[in-house]
Amino acid sequence: MTPEEALLRVIHCLDRALASPYKTRAFVRALEVVRETDPVELAERARDERLTELDGIGDSTAGVITEALAGVVPSYLRQIEAESQIELTDGGAAYRAALRGDCHLHSTWSDGGASIEAMAATAIDLGHEYMVLTDHSARLTVAHGLNEERLANQLAEIDRINDEIATAGHSFRILTGMEVDILEDGALDLSPDMLGELDVVVASVHSKLRMDGKQMTERMVMAVANPHVDILGHCTGRMIGKRPPSDFDADYVFAACARFHTAVEINCRPERLDPPRDLLRLAVDYGCWFTIDTDAHATGQLEWQPLGCDRAAECDVPIDRILNTKSADELLAWTHAVAA
Ligand SMILES: [Zn+2]
Ligand SMILES: [Zn+2]
Repeated sequence: MTPEEALLRVIHCLDRALASPYKTRAFVRALEVVRETDPVELAERARDERLTELDGIGDSTAGVITEALAGVVPSYLRQIEAESQIELTDGGAAYRAALRGDCHLHSTWSDGGASIEAMAATAIDLGHEYMVLTDHSARLTVAHGLNEERLANQLAEIDRINDEIATAGHSFRILTGMEVDILEDGALDLSPDMLGELDVVVASVHSKLRMDGKQMTERMVMAVANPHVDILGHCTGRMIGKRPPSDFDADYVFAACARFHTAVEINCRPERLDPPRDLLRLAVDYGCWFTIDTDAHATGQLEWQPLGCDRAAECDVPIDRILNTKSADELLAWTHAVAA
């Protein structure tokens, strides 16, 4: 294991553990330093215990580099690897085994921390057949959301990467998509033409989360009824222990999801786990479709599907109503049929 590989794996595990950004940043910075430093100099500095003289290398990161160069798995990596394992219940295991892709994830094109290629490589390692890239739309400026021009560029880039993946012999595809903001009046933050070009559209509320319940219900139903929308992202917007769920009439929203064939996302992020159990059971009662998505912003977070799988098992979500148990072609047939 090279120092670069060791640091990348540490970052992967820290992201999987949802560690503080400060902690992760130290390893990201060390990775940059390792990539910029001549390997011979790096080895000499490790031998003479002078790595920490380099700007951006501290005691922990120096330890990882030194042990990797010595040909052993760094002790810090072994520890974080063990501590960050994602648990999966027996009930959840049947769901996880059935999943063939992930329909909501981000890259460095918006607020993600990893390139499209890195996200795809991890998704392939996880055994996925596809991933839908859903970076943010333009309105979410804090997340560096994509305007139409950047989205068009991204679609071309996905074409190129898909060709590379096929050339490398993988039967894996990146499907195009976007996590489109639901504006205050229920309209979407992307033109119908561009929406029509995408394979899968996730629509989510990211602003005015505390608006009046009646207005929020109308806003969400409008979006759910939009023929271009395939998935309703993290429907309550809650952040566990930090932000309460938005106020809306879940009966109307889930009835609309069932009626207009918009899947209800089971968002796996540990701080979201959205919808909460009572609402998830209600969506099951309405006969909704579902997806189990990580909403990953880093490679390690692509491993979070077990959290949603356990939740789905607890709430008796029918496996055959979960869209990402379908093949890529079946999924596309579903999303396009809805859009027609
Ligand atoms: Zn979101
Ligand atoms: Zn997202």
